Parts: sequence; structure tokens; C-alpha cells
Amino acid sequence: MAKLTDTHAHIHMPPLSDDIEGVVSRAFNNGVERILTVGVNPEDSKEALKTALMFPNVYAAAGIHPEDWESFSEEACGELFRTASHKKVIAVGEIGLDFYRDYAPAPVQEKVFRRMLEMSRELKKPVIIHNREASSRCLAVLEEELGRGRSAGGIFHCFSGGDDIIKWALDNNFYISYAGQLTYKSAGTIRETLKLVPADRMFVETDSPYLAPVPLRGKTNEPANVAYTAAFAAKELGVETEELALRLEKNFDDLFGRML
Ligand SMILES: [Zn+2]
Repeated sequence: MAKLTDTHAHIHMPPLSDDIEGVVSRAFNNGVERILTVGVNPEDSKEALKTALMFPNVYAAAGIHPEDWESFSEEACGELFRTASHKKVIAVGEIGLDFYRDYAPAPVQEKVFRRMLEMSRELKKPVIIHNREASSRCLAVLEEELGRGRSAGGIFHCFSGGDDIIKWALDNNFYISYAGQLTYKSAGTIRETLKLVPADRMFVETDSPYLAPVPLRGKTNEPANVAYTAAFAAKELGVETEELALRLEKNFDDLFGRML
């Protein structure tokens, strides 16, 4: 069985947190060696860390998602910084811009995003980027905040396309992570990007409890299911799942190795 890492899940949130032991043991029994559980606001990031502290191979990320912009304040950032400083918190995320939904006006989202990128610089930890219909602004902000060689790298999570994102990622020590949508019939444009992303810059994730891959689409997703997405990507690329999985595991070690 191929060994994999689920590079983006929310196992500290309901409904997954209600059966946390079951979720983690099903993942480990299915070859998922490591799970990165990702926070979306300061309180939630604390929960992510608590869950990470329960299991040796579960790590946390701490950040403010654009949807959670209302949780942003300097006081909240102080609290988030303390959480993010913990050694089991290996990334700042998820953070970014989302112009698809009516979360907050673009300048408000951008202010939060910039503050989070500043935090990642202070902590020298990689970032996990949520970008939805905001690619050009997102890249402009990243360029300004992380440019000039100061970046610890990062991941564009739940990648939904954009050649500009891929190009920037390859130039800037960033990785592209595919979630379960890759397996959806309607996701032809996402699948087409697979051939543009070298295997040494690729990840797979579940974004669970959301986005269950085929054949489980519509069900509650969990980290064990990342194997379906990896197998699907391998088939599309014409390589063995085992071979791709080995490469993806090395990618995780390359990006986060000093913190694992
Ligand atoms: Zn997420």
C-alpha cells in the first residue's frame, strides 16, 4: 500500500472531531502516514493544535481564512502567533483571498492576508494558500510580501486551475495541491493542469470533511480517502500510484522536513 500524507484536512472540526480516534486510525490503516489539520481562525487553530498534540503524526496549521475575516484583530493575531509558534504547527494557513463568495470587500481580505504573510515571515514557516477567483491579486500580494527571497515556501491548496499560479509556484518554491475535485467528471480543466505541474511540486489532500473524491462524492470526506485522489492522479499521469506517492512523500519532507 502506498504511503501518503493528507496535506490538508480539518479533522479537528465536526463531524470528524466527533470520531477523531476512528478518523485517524482509518487513515493510518489506509497508508496515510501523516495528516496536516488546518485552522481557519485563531480559536479553530487552537483546536487544530490540540488535535495535533493527541497523535504523533498529526500536524497543525494556524491562520485566518478569508471567510473568517471577522475574527481578525491585533489581539487575535497575538493569540494566533502564540499558537503558530508551537513546534507542532508547521504552517501558517489557511490564508488567502476569495472573491467567489461575498465574504468581505477585497481590501479587507487583503489586509488580513498581508498580516498572515507577515506572521509566516516572522515564524519562517511555509504558508497554505486559499485562492478562489482571486489569482492575480493573490500573486501580487504574495510577490510583495514574500518576494526577494524571504519565503519559506508554501502550498496552493485545493488547486482549481490557473497557469499563472503554476508558473509563480514553480518560480517561488511553492507547491500545487489537488483535492478530490480532481476526480470529478466536471473537472476537466483541473485535470489538464496535471501535466503542467512537475511531480516534485505536487501534493494531494482531502480538504475533509468537504470534497469527497469519486467514488465517495457527496459523503463526509476523511483523510483515508486521499488514496483515491493519489491513485487518480497517478493514472492520469501514466505512473504507478506507489511511484507518485513516494515522490509526494519526499515533497512533504522537502517543504516541512526541519519541523517534522
Ligand atoms: Zn480547507
